[in-house]
Amino acid sequence: MASNEFDLIAQYFERQAVNRSDVPLAIGDDCALLEVPVGSQLAVSTDSLVAGTHFLADADPVRVAHKALASNLSDLAAMGATPAWVSLALTMPEPDEPWLAKFCEGFFALAEYYNVQLVGGDTTKGPLSITLTVHGFVPQGQALTRYGASSGDWIYVTGNLGDSAAGLAVLLGQAELEDKQLAETLVERHFMAQPRVLTGQALRKVASAALDISDGLVSDLGHILKRSGLAAVIEVDKLPLSPELKAFEPLQDKALQLALTSGEEYELCFTVPEQNRGAVETALAHTGVSATCVGQLRPGSGITLLRDGNPLDWQLQGYDHFAE
Ligand code: ADP
Ligand code: MG
Repeated sequence: MASNEFDLIAQYFERQAVNRSDVPLAIGDDCALLEVPVGSQLAVSTDSLVAGTHFLADADPVRVAHKALASNLSDLAAMGATPAWVSLALTMPEPDEPWLAKFCEGFFALAEYYNVQLVGGDTTKGPLSITLTVHGFVPQGQALTRYGASSGDWIYVTGNLGDSAAGLAVLLGQAELEDKQLAETLVERHFMAQPRVLTGQALRKVASAALDISDGLVSDLGHILKRSGLAAVIEVDKLPLSPELKAFEPLQDKALQLALTSGEEYELCFTVPEQNRGAVETALAHTGVSATCVGQLRPGSGITLLRDGNPLDWQLQGYDHFAE
């Protein structure tokens, strides 16, 4: 980057409100020094957002920053981990201070909310892209993985599904809505998803497997099925749809198909053994997040969509960045 790289780092990234006691040395040295609590495992995840692929280059930097950090925190949530630290590799065509100021506004608002400290990173020149690595703690052996599920376990999702895809369609001009308020609400859902951090932690001793929905329920549930060697049935009429999605797509089957394939939802999909079903509600009561049972795991492979006990032959495609 330009000669004022260090000024930029000092001005925008070194000053932050979060100051954790498990960070003896943060930004400014060759490495950060970090302390993992005794009895915890460190959960680490990296995600990249590239302009033109994951967001439009002229998108509001506040929202881009939120989305970048939220998608990373969502991965920690899906492991049942408590977020602690983040590092940021930022590539920009040129030092764009107004853009940086807004980016930091969105980034630190969410980081402060979850008490996540920015502990380092890299700043380079090139096409706009953002790579974050988040670190969190999970008590030894209690992480929610993708391979712990068994046949007979029930499949749950948090929140509502489909809003993110609807918001993206509005954003890309693929859907004309007369109701501008509705359009803005859906776009806001697409960008400003709240990672289900508390929910993930609450599910540690309840769920047998979990992941976050980044590529669409059907596609992501497929990962649990593969890792656990199982099949699934989903009862489509149980899928949780928001009133806004129903207003966006009045045709019920189309709305359900959006819910099944909508990526970047950052809701959790998790599985629960029969004996833990009663514990789900109790575990989530304090989080303010709803969970809906949408199906069940079976022996075999693949996903069957059911309505009133009968299979549906809907052809669905999970969201795939390389499909276009
Ligand atoms: P080095 O040359 O040793 O890689 P850098 O000049 O890249 O060091 O970075 C100096 C310090 O600033 C390091 O502590 C690094 O972690 C931090 N840093 C650089 N860019 C960022 C960024 N975008 N966000 C947070 N910290 C950063
Ligand atoms: Mg560097």
